Amino acid sequence: MNNLIPITDIKGVGEKTAKAFEKLNIYTINDLIHYYPRDYEENISMKKISEVEINEICLIEGDVCELPQNIRKKNIVITKMKVRDETGQLYITWFRQPYMKNKFSINENVVLKGKVILKYGQLQMESPQIIRKDELLLQSTQQLLPIYPLIKELTLRNLTDFINQGLEYTKGQLKDYLPNEIKERYMLCEYNYALYQIHNPDDEFALEIAKKRLIFDEFLFFQLGLLMIKNECFVMDNQFQYKEESLVNKFLSQLPFNLTNAQTKVWEEIKGDLKGSLTMNRLVQGDVGSGKTIVAVLALLFAVENGYQGTMMAPTEVLAKQHYKSLTNLLEPLGIKVGILVGSMTKKQKLEMAAEIANGSIQIIIGTHAIIQDPIRFHNLSLVITDEQHRFGVKQREKLAGKGHHPHVLVMSATPIPRTLALIVYGDMDVSIIDELPPGRQIIKTYHVKSNYRERIYAFIEKEIELGRQCYIVCPAVEENEELEMESVIQYTDKIKKVINPSVRIEYLHGKMKAKEKNFFMESFSEGKIDILVSTTVIEVGVNVPNATIMVIENAERFGLAGLHQLRGRVGRGEHQSHCILITDSNADITKKRMKVLENNSDGFIISEYDLKLRGPGDAFGIKQHGLPEFKIGSIFENMDVLKETHILAKKINSEDDKLSSEKYKPLIELINRSFNQSISQISL
Ligand code: ADP
Ligand code: MG
Repeated sequence: MNNLIPITDIKGVGEKTAKAFEKLNIYTINDLIHYYPRDYEENISMKKISEVEINEICLIEGDVCELPQNIRKKNIVITKMKVRDETGQLYITWFRQPYMKNKFSINENVVLKGKVILKYGQLQMESPQIIRKDELLLQSTQQLLPIYPLIKELTLRNLTDFINQGLEYTKGQLKDYLPNEIKERYMLCEYNYALYQIHNPDDEFALEIAKKRLIFDEFLFFQLGLLMIKNECFVMDNQFQYKEESLVNKFLSQLPFNLTNAQTKVWEEIKGDLKGSLTMNRLVQGDVGSGKTIVAVLALLFAVENGYQGTMMAPTEVLAKQHYKSLTNLLEPLGIKVGILVGSMTKKQKLEMAAEIANGSIQIIIGTHAIIQDPIRFHNLSLVITDEQHRFGVKQREKLAGKGHHPHVLVMSATPIPRTLALIVYGDMDVSIIDELPPGRQIIKTYHVKSNYRERIYAFIEKEIELGRQCYIVCPAVEENEELEMESVIQYTDKIKKVINPSVRIEYLHGKMKAKEKNFFMESFSEGKIDILVSTTVIEVGVNVPNATIMVIENAERFGLAGLHQLRGRVGRGEHQSHCILITDSNADITKKRMKVLENNSDGFIISEYDLKLRGPGDAFGIKQHGLPEFKIGSIFENMDVLKETHILAKKINSEDDKLSSEKYKPLIELINRSFNQSISQISL
């Protein structure tokens, strides 16, 4: 059965709908039937008005027999109308939605869904959803109705219909690529059954079984894929075996501090790789402030001492500049030339820099990820370090390999996740962990307050500023929308300028600013020319301004634990006691728990353990913060057991048959090749 037929073969899907499907990355019938529901709704059957029961959520169809009226009660507007069918009449009410008044006309036929309650002796349906007739699904016998993530060009009904046609096309004849022995061992259902049930579950039980199979598949492919990437792309002979280490050792002995035990251990691991027989491919995880930079510096210096170039890439210009500054300070006294390459440089500057990189007179290159994108020629690059979150993927590696390099790769991540999880999701890398902070660090005092504390907080900030300290305020943004973010930052700044002592210098940053502007304000802040910096989360992860001692986070409930911990890590970097103030009026249980965790904990690894436990639905932002891969149906957090199971299985398969070349894996390898070609960048970047 050829399931790679274009989506336009489905009845009702023309050019226009096909275009809409492109937004969802759906091109073929195969893509379509793998577009899974995000949730399921109990199918509620239509009731006659005379049959509805108190406290029941139900669906009714009737005609509007009394137009909606707005009634004001105390401070709220209640909109009330009446609907009838051939068996009776029912009041419908909405609260604080006065505009509902103009939504209906007399005798209009409507379908409404909501809870029926008894109030003042009257049956009424409260705040119902208005169901468009064409959204009513056909199969009313089904217990669970799938809800798909939609876009505005597609109605639920259309999409459901198209998907079912797609399933019809494949007629349950898709090849089941898992060998029977695996299905038996892990008690997995057949593939076509799973696919059908995920879209049309018979009942909860069937749905669970279907989900388990599809989640298992997704995780298993991911793990096998990582292992294959590791085998094919990353396990390579070390072309740059470093030998000399007297300069590095001398540098180490002259540092104004001793490495922590954790830093020493990680440095030894890195050194072992660089001197060893295979190319390094290592992830260093360490909490904010654990001192990852110095470890990176040692590795870069080691490269230079052995006659090679090294580069360090940062996700933003602000961070690249900060690294450039500290590396120049540390290494130029040794006669080492450090260069920087970022987007805001002029063309001429870039060309000059490129020339010096090509002829080898610059030994260490700091820059944004554009370094690899641009047609830069290195003299003899042997080490690539990427800082914060960004992984150095297969694609970049291929790009460099095309230039004749197979450099060592070191990734620094400041969003720690538990080691067990790290080993699984970064299966293609070796993992080192810096699990200790340099001595003498003060604990950042963390408080969770309601917004009526604001005045007191501002007074506290003024006092700290008088003492010469500085402050960050992260202010609320409604959603991930740069326009709104900008407005919110500007408004907030205006507001506090009115209440805070006018001698206090306040500036703001937002995501719509040009890199140059951002750099300017960040630098001014870092030089102490700004007292309060208001911003959204553009305060870059990794920014180091030791004189800043207060971090205020408005609407703290919007962030996951990892995000809050990261933001808090911007302070507590110097000798002065620092404070983090989390403002939220949310009474939600999960928010309170999260705030408590932060008040009581400062260790990023422990916080990340809590983060995994205290997750609400739809916490995707948290996942992004961790830099973890996102899956279509599996959840790293909810399906950890399956993740572990597949990890063990993938390793076993890989050790027995690393190319999956035996007959029983043939369908599997075909599928992995196909899906990895599409998503390899997502997995490895
Ligand atoms: P991060 O891991 O968040 O990138 P940094 O590398 O920026 O942390 O280090 C934070 C601060 O700690 C820097 O000012 C650095 O000089 C200092 N530092 C790093 N290692 C040590 C150490 N072993 N002893 C004392 N201070 C250290
Ligand atoms: Mg850092």
